[in-house]
Amino acid sequence: MPALCHCARYRVLAACFVVRRDNKRTGRFLAGADTRAFILAAGRNRNVDDLRFARYCRCEHAVRQDSGHARRRHRRTRQYKKHYFSSAERIYKGAYSIGDGGKSLNTGKKIQQFVNVPGTRLNYPETVIFGAHDGKCVTVSAGVHCREYVGIQAVIELARTIDPKDIYGELHLVHAFNYDGLICRCSDVFPSDGKNLNRVFPGSTCGTDAEKLAAFLEETVIRHSDCIVDLHSGGGYEYLTPHVYLHGAAAPEVCAQSQELAMHVGVPYAVRSQAKNGFYSHAGTCGVPAVLIERGCCGLWSEDESSRDIEDVKNILRFLGVLRDGIPSARKNLRIFDRGEYLDAPVSGCWYPAKAVGERIKAGESLGRICDIFGELLHEEFAKHDGVILYQTASLGIEKDCPMVAYAIEER
Ligand SMILES: [Zn+2]
Repeated sequence: MPALCHCARYRVLAACFVVRRDNKRTGRFLAGADTRAFILAAGRNRNVDDLRFARYCRCEHAVRQDSGHARRRHRRTRQYKKHYFSSAERIYKGAYSIGDGGKSLNTGKKIQQFVNVPGTRLNYPETVIFGAHDGKCVTVSAGVHCREYVGIQAVIELARTIDPKDIYGELHLVHAFNYDGLICRCSDVFPSDGKNLNRVFPGSTCGTDAEKLAAFLEETVIRHSDCIVDLHSGGGYEYLTPHVYLHGAAAPEVCAQSQELAMHVGVPYAVRSQAKNGFYSHAGTCGVPAVLIERGCCGLWSEDESSRDIEDVKNILRFLGVLRDGIPSARKNLRIFDRGEYLDAPVSGCWYPAKAVGERIKAGESLGRICDIFGELLHEEFAKHDGVILYQTASLGIEKDCPMVAYAIEER
């Protein structure tokens, strides 16, 4: 008989609990960050047993996992014959129908843990604050890009200072998704596969580490959250003016909610993003409103910048009613741009920007030049639109096809 989640401890289990009898049948109980039971069933007649296991696990939801990736892989390898994987469906909709007392066990508690990503050696640190009162579930995340320290430090401080007694709902604070990269001072990719998490959503359970993490985050963090605030800054070689991204490609009501969140961020500029393959943007695709805040640059951080991130997060939490220590302040003069132009370097060489970040530009003006190492001009970039410089490469050296300069477009 396989072991099962220990009821009293399930919330603090670091990662997932795997019950495996043979290769054809796996019941996986995710506990801790997510508290859902996932069931992979091979064969209809065995589902009953899997459900019975799920009932032992005091998780809030049991989800019959969508194993489309596994199904396709089996087809490709011609091993797919009698294995049957059902599509994703919620087996029990009631929050406490499997086990009970999930929330009551943890009400008013703060839990810190490393969450293991199934099928990988990735572990990311998070603090879960179960508020003393009912309310929304909000995720505040940092370290999607591991050299963007301002948000990471802000989350560390938020996790240390927020008292569960003051929280209405549930607050998930992800300290650094790319924790390995943070520690080994990697560039903004995962050391194990060289991938940028914000380019791989929706990910794949059969993919590389970053892709598995993306698939895991969709099923756990995104689906579990009412709202997401993702903290970023300029990477190691990037000047940046503070701004916020809001959904531009999600459903209209999700875009509207995202804009409401952006109105509570203390930056002068907001840009509607059409991206769909990043953590925050994929949340929008899944119907979860989110914003991405950019503050700080050049792979550095300061207390002042982290404090501003903290104030933005708290202001959003006040707006959502998760924090009730004051009145949220909405920004009246936030300039919202519908589009941005994101330019990569057409050649490698030495980069000489002509403008400063935050500076207004006119169509036709030079944005900068790339020269070879002997000083001969290779390329000059001119603005196609009026706008505002959001970020640009700070280093002298620049590589072909890597980010060079980005500006928000002023519509005429
Ligand atoms: Zn970033």
